[in-house]
Amino acid sequence: MYNIMSPKAAEFISHEEILESLEYGEKNKNNRELIDQILEKARQRKGLSHREAIVLLDCDLEDKNEEIYKLAEQIKKDFYGNRIVMFAPLYLSNYCINGCEYCPYHLKNKHIARKKLTQEEIRKEVIALQDMGHKRLAIEAGEDPVNNPLEYILESIQTIYSIKHKNGAIRRVNVNIAATTVENYTKLKEAGIGTYILFQETYHKENYEKLHPTGPKHDWAYHTEAMDRAMEGGIDDVGLGVLFGLNNFRYDFTGILMHAEHLEAYKGVGPHTISVPRVRRADDIDPSTFDNGISDDTFAKLVACIRIAVPYTGMIVSTRESKASRERVLHLGVSQISGGSRTSVGGYVEEEPEEENSAQFDVSDNRTLDEVVRWLMTMGYVPSFCTACYREGRTGDRFMKLLKSGQIVNCCHPNALMTLKEYLEDYASPQTREIGDKLIAGEIDVITNEKVKEKVVDYLEHIHEGKRDFRF
Ligand code: SF4
Ligand code: SF4
Repeated sequence: MYNIMSPKAAEFISHEEILESLEYGEKNKNNRELIDQILEKARQRKGLSHREAIVLLDCDLEDKNEEIYKLAEQIKKDFYGNRIVMFAPLYLSNYCINGCEYCPYHLKNKHIARKKLTQEEIRKEVIALQDMGHKRLAIEAGEDPVNNPLEYILESIQTIYSIKHKNGAIRRVNVNIAATTVENYTKLKEAGIGTYILFQETYHKENYEKLHPTGPKHDWAYHTEAMDRAMEGGIDDVGLGVLFGLNNFRYDFTGILMHAEHLEAYKGVGPHTISVPRVRRADDIDPSTFDNGISDDTFAKLVACIRIAVPYTGMIVSTRESKASRERVLHLGVSQISGGSRTSVGGYVEEEPEEENSAQFDVSDNRTLDEVVRWLMTMGYVPSFCTACYREGRTGDRFMKLLKSGQIVNCCHPNALMTLKEYLEDYASPQTREIGDKLIAGEIDVITNEKVKEKVVDYLEHIHEGKRDFRF
């Protein structure tokens, strides 16, 4: 039975409720009156229920779809302005005891090169990332209690935060590791992590179990209840995601919104981010073996509908998506992207030879961070390397309150300009710097609060003179 307040996965992600919602969406997809009502509610920027959202996702009335896209774009602008937060993944180890059928790190893949970075190798990778200009990382590791115990992850986080190379610093480490215990989540929290990210892959229990035939990840309920345990362990910022292509996208769209609703109702804080990866080719993985692939059009619609349904949740796309695909979804709701990513273990220091492939998936967007930053700016976006909230203790419900009141923009915009300025001074090519400095000059005028504006101008001058790490 569906129960949003239940601690049991099978109740807050009720299969029956999803099926009924899908039926409701199908039945109402051309119901103009209802669609208008839902759009009217969405315009109040308070989000939508999963049932309302699926009606919009299913809608195939051309004029209404136009309205949906326009509204998503407007909500994106209202909450996130023209800023895009930058991050990079850092793969620590690809040892894994799970059997995930879509991931080359699965235990049975005997020809992939298995690697685990030593602390010295992590140091080198982090220096390479700092030299690119990154300030925010997402660390990734397979599940393997012998090779990648929690102590290894904790030590790695400590190493990452300790490295200060030239003007570089990693100021926020997000963590993407397997579902674990409350006790371990507390340890991660104490290590100073930003967001705890765990992709659900699919909410469909039966398919989930087929896709994860072996290993601890096979346990759907333990995996699905992980975010509740993470919050119990003290982590306020959690990141959800499904791997589109594994299962019917309508099912997983409904599931992820139900999960967000559960976290908000049961724990008082919705997800900090939602990621929208699609299955990619990789060693031993052929995406065509999964018959739920989605087109670029469907992908854009998903992004737009998630944006409308959960306006307070950041949305992330990775370099799994091509430049063209990323360009299309940026204005529909995406607020964070990775740039210059390497998805192999140790890939930032050394490009690995093909026969030694240790990557989790093939990257579609192979551009350098400098190219991505320049590309964003030429489209009018402000790339942001901001990590201020977590460092100012603005996490969980404190963060959500600021976001919902619209006040966060008074922090985000100036912080984006200042961290971009740091990037331009320390790492950008001359061409990128020229474009960036012009962009910053124009964006200063957008700041309406005169006091803040004065401070920003002053801080920017200090950054130019070599000082670092100003924030609101
Ligand atoms: Fe292991 Fe994660 Fe890959 Fe599954 S998806 S095989 S758990 S690394
Ligand atoms: Fe993110 Fe907070 Fe920085 Fe805004 S101020 S970009 S919400 S870290």
